Amino acid sequence: MAAFKAILIEKSESGQKVGMVDFDESNLMDGDVTVRIEWSTINYKDGLAITGKAPVVRRFPMIPGVDFAGTVETSSHPSWKAGDKVILNGWGLGETHLGAYAEKARVKGDWLVRLPAKLSTREAMAIGTAGYTAMLAVMALERHGLAPDRGPMLVTGAAGGVGSVAVALLSKLGYRVIASTGRPQEAAYLKDLGAAEVIDRAELSGPVKPLAKERWAGGIDSVGSATLANALAMTRYGGAVAACGLAGGMDLPTSVAPFILRGVSLLGIDSVQCPLTMRTQAWTRLESDLERAKMAKMAVDIGLAEVIDTAPRILAGQVRGRIVVKIG
Ligand code: NDP
Repeated sequence: MAAFKAILIEKSESGQKVGMVDFDESNLMDGDVTVRIEWSTINYKDGLAITGKAPVVRRFPMIPGVDFAGTVETSSHPSWKAGDKVILNGWGLGETHLGAYAEKARVKGDWLVRLPAKLSTREAMAIGTAGYTAMLAVMALERHGLAPDRGPMLVTGAAGGVGSVAVALLSKLGYRVIASTGRPQEAAYLKDLGAAEVIDRAELSGPVKPLAKERWAGGIDSVGSATLANALAMTRYGGAVAACGLAGGMDLPTSVAPFILRGVSLLGIDSVQCPLTMRTQAWTRLESDLERAKMAKMAVDIGLAEVIDTAPRILAGQVRGRIVVKIG
């Protein structure tokens, strides 16, 4: 029986145990496509899964890792054949279905997106679920009718993964980007990515007024809690904030005032169950709208063996940009 390297989370009465194992291929879950994984990444959710700080994993044992890029090895799915380059984000990977921190995965062909021609598998994972989510947020703001002439865009959690890609995308699209960060030492990095202004996240984490001075036409928020509530209270008439994260908390201490007095909208972003047509559109947009030089500035590579020690750092807000994991 063929075996391959994988990170495995096991659960016993004494708690959760994570380690590197030789995983028997016959223990992979059902699926119609087997993929040789080349690259994965560390997202915030992967940090939660590996540390066990939130109940992300809903089946044990579990190979964590919510996204990968690789090459199809075998397929009985009509859309895929051996040799095809593919991307997978979400669909329960690393949560309910054995995930990406392994040399192989067996998955449903319906979950896969074709790797855009101008992206390598490594570049796709330098973007990863964080970057694809940032693109979904940009697309939601565009569907709402926002455009650069409507005013500046706020990005919270700006030095993180979703935030870094959001700053780069919005600035390339012509928006004046206001980047909110708790790491003032990353101001030069954020300006390199395209931020016009960098503000201290403390400006957004204090007490929430129902309405405050209008500062931006909209934004992309990966923090939640008081930060999102303040972002909404400071959004211009008719604007919108796309909410995609909870790095600062899951609560939302807001009032209806921004919605009923300023016509502000709150746009929810989910990358996990997002329909295939929108995923494909997001990846096509990422291929054209994310500058390679900026991608290079935000991504650092590690090996599979370093994932377990790196995971807690993302929860501590110590990771800048994106961590790309070389598998195999
Ligand atoms: P990162 O850790 O890379 O980025 C999060 C950033 O948020 C940090 O870098 C930090 O930015 C800021 N932050 C962290 N803690 C706090 C805090 N207590 N208060 C205020 N700001 C804080 O994570 P990702 O970019 O990978 O993910 C960001 C969020 O988006 C996560 O909650 C994740 O679960 C969610 N997410 C949701 C998806 C979806 O489908 N909706 C998909 C992908 C991610 P700085 O240092 O600049 O202040």
